[in-house]
Amino acid sequence: MRFEGKKVAVTGAASGIGEAIANAFAREGADVAFMDLDMDKVKKLAEAADGTNNIGIGVDVSDKASVESAFSEIEKTYGRLDVFVNCAGISIIVPMLECTEEIWDKTIDVNLKGTFLCMQNAVRIMDKQKSGSIICMSSQSGKVGGGAYQAYCASKFGVIGIVQSAAVEFAKEGIRINAVCPGVVLTPMWDKQVISYAKKRNIKPEEVMPYFESKIPMGRIGTLEEVVNVTFFLASDDSAYLTGQSLNVCGGQVM
Ligand code: NAD
Repeated sequence: MRFEGKKVAVTGAASGIGEAIANAFAREGADVAFMDLDMDKVKKLAEAADGTNNIGIGVDVSDKASVESAFSEIEKTYGRLDVFVNCAGISIIVPMLECTEEIWDKTIDVNLKGTFLCMQNAVRIMDKQKSGSIICMSSQSGKVGGGAYQAYCASKFGVIGIVQSAAVEFAKEGIRINAVCPGVVLTPMWDKQVISYAKKRNIKPEEVMPYFESKIPMGRIGTLEEVVNVTFFLASDDSAYLTGQSLNVCGGQVM
């Protein structure tokens, strides 16, 4: 198994990409901390996942005390942390003139501050062992701005900034820090977004995905497995000489 005995933590593990990544690491032999705001769901998922040493931890990534308590539980349970995947995130499509201060603050708090707080706590553990790989979920919207998306784009561009800065700071400590930038991947995050996007483009909700596909050189949206595979690459020694990178997983839509 590819990650036998490795200690892995994943935020956003109750749904979509984070859930797929956490389950995939467990299938590959890792002990996995499933972390999410939805504590009941991560506890159930951790129990149901492959292996016997998985744990479910309720955490609000935008809250410093909650993040510190979650990582202290991980350190107490596993004693170390080999891979941390920063995946929790929210996305609200809203035209600029309708974007409230609350939407802006919430998006930045969860996606940007949350990424920083979790990374800071993961690094504290990894710095003691002088090794580790951190992978942050940015987005293709972290590379190219899309309309009606300012807070989300700002947060995801910012994630790449945090990744690059931290990668420089911890390269000599044996900690590699990279980002994954997915294009469109069908997850529960899209349930609400499809409606907002249809409204914005004045099309029917069922026309949204075909519209996206028409913009993607490969002609299709991405799969969870394709994001998992790139995350595995960044988590493993196959990417031993990569740090501070942000890899696009988007069928060629962003280069
Ligand atoms: P999702 O909505 O299916 O899952 C997000 C998870 O994050 C949920 O389980 C939610 O409970 C959790 N979460 C939200 N706020 C939290 C908080 N404050 N503390 C802890 N957990 C919190 O979304 P997804 O599509 O799986 O997205 C996962 C990540 O991938 C996000 O960062 C997203 O921006 C990024 N991404 C997704 C896509 C896509 O098309 N799905 C594309 C590019 C990037």
